Amino acid sequence: MTKNLDPFGRNINYLRISVTDRCNLRCIYCMPLEGVPQMSHSELLSYEEIQTVVRAAAELGINRIRLTGGEPLVRAELPELVRMLSRIEGIEELSLTTNGVFLKKYALELKQAGLSRVNVSLDTLKADTFRYITRLGELQGVLEGIEAAKKAGFEPVKTNTVVMRGINDDEILDFAKMTYEDGWHVRFIELMPFKGVAEFVPSIELRQHISLLGKLEPCASITGNGPAMYYRLPGARGTIGFISPLTETSFCSRCNRMRLTSDGKLRPCLLREDEIDLKLPLRSDEIGASMKELKRLILKAVASKPEHHHLNEGVARLVNRKMPQIGG
Ligand code: SAM
Ligand code: SF4
Repeated sequence: MTKNLDPFGRNINYLRISVTDRCNLRCIYCMPLEGVPQMSHSELLSYEEIQTVVRAAAELGINRIRLTGGEPLVRAELPELVRMLSRIEGIEELSLTTNGVFLKKYALELKQAGLSRVNVSLDTLKADTFRYITRLGELQGVLEGIEAAKKAGFEPVKTNTVVMRGINDDEILDFAKMTYEDGWHVRFIELMPFKGVAEFVPSIELRQHISLLGKLEPCASITGNGPAMYYRLPGARGTIGFISPLTETSFCSRCNRMRLTSDGKLRPCLLREDEIDLKLPLRSDEIGASMKELKRLILKAVASKPEHHHLNEGVARLVNRKMPQIGG
């Protein structure tokens, strides 16, 4: 298999694609209440343009794609994009990160279109806390979305939880217990402090807390390489992952990803402002020439991946973008 090595020996085989900067929720750590200035439809990459980028990326060894946003399921006809990307030679895994609100409606269609996995962002299991964090959402709809995903064949359920001190850190054990009772795979994410909404909770503290339920045994990831560290409680079907961009010194050394913004900029690192524009070449050349140019630009982005971010040096700004525009 082709390897896509960056200057630090990391194999960059994973591309996260933001398909829209819009969202139906306003999570306190991610989106301002008034939303972000919306791009016009023509500024967004079309599905055909995204398909062309993924074809070029696949030829260079990128074999895992994740669709994200904003909320990917607010973009019209997302299952059609899934269908288009799932047929590209070399793409072994095509997944989606969603807030789950529209999963009930789309889970089956997404499965039939060829989606391999779904991750649901779920920060709380309490209805009032859910309303507080998301400002516009209802927990029940997301839980029904998770059930619909299970029924459609997306098993096991995978959740991402951003942990905020004083807001949802009292629910860590409840999430950890879901790995026994319901076989969920849960992942706890350290809050990246862009908006100063709450204090992050270091993963080590969460691990110590969860150890009250039993000894956490390290285990392999169920979703390939990436920045999470996985553990299992004795006898649990599901796993517990920790994503620790702030406290884990080796976090960046395991980074295998790049990001494509909804308006066609390739970002070698979430936390650096460097971007390489793919939209102009996509729109200026005829397809053959454009493929060659796209591959050159993708390789340029890989070659410019920084060794590490600067979060732990107190730099916690997304200099030129908001999270939903890049795709978290
Ligand atoms: N709307 C979809 C969702 O919420 O799953 C996809 C986009 S969202 C930006 C992707 C992920 O980024 C979510 O799991 C969200 O919790 C995470 N995220 C957003 N802002 C964050 C922050 N400041 N720190 C850590 N994770 C963040
Ligand atoms: Fe929307 Fe996802 Fe950001 Fe929440 S985290 S505001 S659901 S994009």
